[in-house]
Amino acid sequence: GAQTQPMTTISDIRAREVLDSRGNPTVEVNIGLSDGSWGRALVPSGASTGANEAVELRDGDPNRFHGRGVLKAVANVHNKIAPALFGKSVMDQRAIDDLLIELDGTHNKSKLGANAILGVSLAAARAASTSSGQSLYEHFHSLHQDVSGNDEPMTLPVPMFNIINGGRHAENSTDFQEFMVLPLGFDTFRRAMQAGVEVYHSLMTGLRNRALGTNVGDEGGFAPPVTTNRQAVELIIEAIERAGYTPGEHCFLAMDVAASELSSRPRRYTLPQRETSLSSEDLVDIYDAWIGDYPIISIEDGLAEDDWNSWDMMTRRLGSRVQLVGDDIYTTNPRLITQGIERSTSNAVLVKLNQIGTVSETLDAIRLTREAGWGTVISHRSGETEDSSIADLAVGVGAGQIKAGAPVRGERTAKYNRLLLIEEQLGADARYAGPEAYDKYLPRT
Ligand code: PGA
Ligand code: ZN
Repeated sequence: GAQTQPMTTISDIRAREVLDSRGNPTVEVNIGLSDGSWGRALVPSGASTGANEAVELRDGDPNRFHGRGVLKAVANVHNKIAPALFGKSVMDQRAIDDLLIELDGTHNKSKLGANAILGVSLAAARAASTSSGQSLYEHFHSLHQDVSGNDEPMTLPVPMFNIINGGRHAENSTDFQEFMVLPLGFDTFRRAMQAGVEVYHSLMTGLRNRALGTNVGDEGGFAPPVTTNRQAVELIIEAIERAGYTPGEHCFLAMDVAASELSSRPRRYTLPQRETSLSSEDLVDIYDAWIGDYPIISIEDGLAEDDWNSWDMMTRRLGSRVQLVGDDIYTTNPRLITQGIERSTSNAVLVKLNQIGTVSETLDAIRLTREAGWGTVISHRSGETEDSSIADLAVGVGAGQIKAGAPVRGERTAKYNRLLLIEEQLGADARYAGPEAYDKYLPRT
């Protein structure tokens, strides 16, 4: 007769305070299972955070880490979460996440802390994958299938290498936060990664030749003291050519303006380096001109999180020519993404696990985005760790795009190196998303 498998349950949960890439405390969680397997997760942390993000619980004790300790979140894992999860099946991610949400009871996870909750949610996913003998990307693929009901193929995502850092991620650099190079025009992830690295090093040469310095920002991109954002774009175009590639064929550009950080009320966008302030329309005029002049294929947070009407206008004006990615405006929140889809506010979503706080809600956000035919970018935070789960998430859901910083610094290369390994493991089944991820905006003239 049929044998029933003994249910694998959660038997041990331990959290601790560790460090992120900026030297700030963050939460690490280990989950042990009844079958002896276990999983571990570390939680990242943003600097240019959206107002609607799930709340990162910090101790506020000025005597430890200038108030940035996370011992309260750690204690919440041990005292509130662990007793509720002991004995529960690790294979039912949705039930675990629903329980975490219920235990917290707030709309923004401010009671237990999204850092406590995500640490547990992600460690559970990892423990489940170990227990079932699957790689994490295979496990995410099954979870995504359960949530979305269809079998989207796994792909290796296009890496969006953030090679010039400004805004809140680097002092005395560009007003716009991120200038990225996207090596689309290659057959494999490995080859695309090589191109991204070569462009990064060519950019270093270009900066040296101009005595602009080669200091880097939080995500490993250079932080040159350029006076205009346009100069940053032109330095990257030159670097692509110097590396022997053709802009608009092998490599494209993307920006994260992080415009919420530039915005004030009554609505003005202040660009300190340019010593000017602009209206929403002025900014969209700039993007309009730039996508005509340069092979820019994606613009994230071109406007502020509370400037929805202007977002709608921006998407009407530019949305057929360029991917417009909402980060702060949605904060990976299914309710806000649904509102964006109803209004055609953008045509793509940035997905960050810690903005919403559980694996299941993140998969809900991804499902909505895919169903709308929108672009999906799986993203790191500016404060990162050696945890590489987002690489597996990007492959498992077939997102097509990942943003994990420059191809330097261990916390960034952890993700890219993981993707190299996954590509090797998939062997003949490996498929690089390449130009497909942007087919709506190609060819660019
Ligand atoms: P953050 O930056 O992690 O500081 O929010 C990343 C982003 O804005 O995409
Ligand atoms: Zn962003």
